[in-house]
Parts: sequence; structure tokens; C-alpha cells
Amino acid sequence: MTPKANIRPMLNVYPDSLGGTLHDVAALLGTDAVRGAFSSLYVLPSLFHSDLDRGFSVIDFELEQSLATEDDLAALRELGVDLKLDFVLNHLSVQSPQFQDLVQNGEKSEYRDFFIDWNEFWAGHGEMTPEGFIQPDPALIRDMFFRKPGLPILMVGFPDGREVPYWNTFYQSVTTDEEGRRRYLGQMDLNIRSERVQAFYHDTLRRLAAYGAGIVRLDAFAYAAKAVGARNFFNEPETWELLQSLRETADSEHLELLPEIHASYREARHEQIASRGYMTYDFFLPGLVIDALESGDGARLAAWATELQEKGIRTVNMLGCHDGIPLLDLVGILPEKRIQALIDLIVSRGGFVKNLHGQKNVYYQVNATFYSALGEDDQKMLLARAIQLFMPGKPQVWYLDLFAGRNDHAAVARAGEGGHKEINRTNLTAADIEAGLQKDVVKEQLKLLQLRNSCPAFDWNAKITAEAEGETLTIRWTHEGSDAVLKANLKTFDFTVETH
Ligand code: BGC
Repeated sequence: MTPKANIRPMLNVYPDSLGGTLHDVAALLGTDAVRGAFSSLYVLPSLFHSDLDRGFSVIDFELEQSLATEDDLAALRELGVDLKLDFVLNHLSVQSPQFQDLVQNGEKSEYRDFFIDWNEFWAGHGEMTPEGFIQPDPALIRDMFFRKPGLPILMVGFPDGREVPYWNTFYQSVTTDEEGRRRYLGQMDLNIRSERVQAFYHDTLRRLAAYGAGIVRLDAFAYAAKAVGARNFFNEPETWELLQSLRETADSEHLELLPEIHASYREARHEQIASRGYMTYDFFLPGLVIDALESGDGARLAAWATELQEKGIRTVNMLGCHDGIPLLDLVGILPEKRIQALIDLIVSRGGFVKNLHGQKNVYYQVNATFYSALGEDDQKMLLARAIQLFMPGKPQVWYLDLFAGRNDHAAVARAGEGGHKEINRTNLTAADIEAGLQKDVVKEQLKLLQLRNSCPAFDWNAKITAEAEGETLTIRWTHEGSDAVLKANLKTFDFTVETH
């Protein structure tokens, strides 16, 4: 199968990360300093109308004009930069027109079945509480995966005065204003069995394609298929059926689908996704890189590169991203003691751990910038970047890693409870960017990116070999007569890159 997405580097930003708007991002990509470093741009979903979770609570998929315009998208096309965009298919904001219609019209709303009425879903499978929601029978939710403590519901006031619970896996906030009016915020789960939801899915994919998307990230898709008594995270076969149902439209719009899921290596979800022809995230790489640089041993990295090649798994890889550094994903690829040692190390360097209310075994990220996780060492950062660019897959580059950003504890404090992710989401001003572009650690990363973006050895069909011997790691790409070789010393962090 010929991949639709190119294999060249992709910058990853919020629209307001670099200078304030997408216009500024496009301008930066066109400057002498940065031009030629990136072929793709992953813009996070605050590009759209949204109100929570820095974009992941979408109101609608129209462009947020204060941050991005059609002209900005055209400017990116001019530069030859295609887009990766989010399709947040598990939920929509309380403020979405669909949910608002439901709140206003209650039973009569044409969106009555668009969201998941908790009491209807569990009818006959639990006990009604005095608060007005069904508490499911314990046996039916024993194995269910919860993202937050308590049941995943938001109680919403209907026009007839009833309080109706709706399924809400992710964030919510309910505040009361001075006049005593309640204001709801929340990411309301969609009912994938509704025909209207299906139509909405196809419209959204077409819209993202029209914006210039080449890759569509399927955000949190594993929560979408739900059934009484199931784990309600990656229910099978329903989750596969859901992906398949999106595929026809994606294919006709030339979109690559990139399902987003965190699972341990041992569960091999990445392999199952890849074997069905989807791109998949390499969420193992960030931890493996830190492990190799801290231990001076590249054997596991080399083995992972070889495995990706042999199994033909097409990845998007990364160091940092808008979420934390995934470490429990490594269960099965690194011994658990070593994973714990990495967590402790990153925390000792100022990172935060958020485990899911004690379900540490399920999903575990450490919030830190990648640069701080590495001990704020420029040479390590450069080598980490070089390794990433030589690993199989399409490299995605978090803007703050490019600028060697440090843990932002003040932003976490400002954000209050649940604000741990702000540690790695600092917006850079034009002055910050200008100062950053003078730094060697930034300039050298850009040089590596420019080489990775232009050298023909980097191709989906290239032959990649990776070897670790003692403290030396060598990765080579060969394609149609050209080759590129990285030779790295994992103890001194010196490395060379050669192309022929
Ligand atoms: C995103 C998170 C977001 C969540 C809910 C995840 O896949 O990466 O940043 O909070 O989905 O949409």
C-alpha cells in the first residue's frame, strides 16, 4: 500500500503557541531560519471553536477566527506544508449547537439521541439514586475503565426542571454565577449508534480535508463504543467497526487516519492498528530515548527500530507533545523497575505525575518538558532529536522541545487543580522566538530537521538498519542509491550524521 502521508518532519503547535496566531506560525515557517525544516503541521484543536481542555472540547469545527483564518491555511499550502488535524469523535462540548438544542428542547429535541442519556443507557441494570441517576450494578462496572473518580456523568438541567445525567468521560466544570445561574462546561460523549452522529462524522472528515488535512488524528476513539457490562475502553469488535465506518469517507478524501491510543506495549494495540492499515503513534519512543540517554545503552532502541521495520508498522513518532511523557506504555518493552526509575528521575527534575486516581496500572504519564526531563542539557536534547529523526516513522516535533523549553511551574500554579499539563504548554512570544532562534540548541535542531526533510534516503520504502554496540548506536536509512547514517555515543552524547 502506498502511504498517503509523507514521511517528512511535522511541527506540532497550538495555533497560539508561536507568536499568537496561526498567521504567525505560517510566517515563522517561511523565515530563512526555519524554511525547509517541516513538510507538515499538526495544529491542535483550539483551531476550532472550543471551550475546555485547550481545544479538546469542540463546540463546532469552524475555524476560531481570532486564532486562524482561511488565509493562514492558504499560506501554509503555499509553503508546501500539509496539515494534521484532530477529529475529536468521542465527545462535543456542552456548548455545541447539538447539546444546546437538547438542553433547550428536551424530549422534543432532534438531537435527543445524539448524546448518551446515562439513565436510558443503564435502564434495567442498576438502582435509581435520590440524585436522579442510575447507579449501575457493581458487577457491570467492575471492569469498566474510568478516567476520573465517580461515575462519568454531568447532571444537566432540562427545561421541564428535570436533572438529566449525560455520559461525560472527560472534563467538566459546573459553576454558579452571581445570580445563581448554573453554567456547565463539559465534553459530552456522543452516541455512535445515532444516525445523526454518523452523518456528523462524515461531514467533519470532509471539512477537515477541505482545511488541508492529510492526516486526521482520531482523538480518544477507544472510549467511543460503549456497552452495558463492557470495559468501555476499546470494546471489540465495535471499536474496529467504528474505525472501518470512517474509512470510506477518509479514503475518498485522501485522509490518513491516525487512531490515538495509549496502551502498554504488551497489549500490542499498535500492532493491531497497523495491521489493519492505519498509521499508529509511537508512544514508546519518548521513554526509550530517555532510557537510552540515561543508561548509555541503545540496545532497546535498536531492537525497537528493527521491529518497526520488520513488521512494517507506519508510525508518527515524537519526543514531547501536548500531553505528558507516556511511560506506562513501556510495560512489556522495558522492565517495570526501569520504568519506575525513569518516572522518579523525571519527577526529580521537576516533572509531575498524574496517575488516574490510583489506577496507576492503566495509564500513566509524567508531565514535563522533554528538555527538562533530560536534565536541561543541550547536547542530550540534540542527540535525542537526532535519534528521533532517524527512527522509523514520520517525526512530529513539539514546538517547545524545538525551543528547548523548560518546565513551567508558574503556569501549573496559575491553572489550579488539574492544570498539570500546563507545565509543557507555554506560549512563546515573538521576542521569545527571536531569542530562541539565536541559541545553538535550536539552530542545530533546525539543521537536522532540514536534512531530514530533504534527504531522499528518508522514505517509507527505505531500508533501515539499527545497531547498538556498547555505548554506540548506529542507524542507517538507504533508499534508491542515497543513504543517511547516524552514529551516536550514548555516554558522551556526541554524534555524527552523514548523507551520501
Ligand atoms: C488528548 C488529551 C485530551 C483528551 C480528551 C486525548 O486524546 O490527547 O489532551 O484531554 O484526549 O479529548
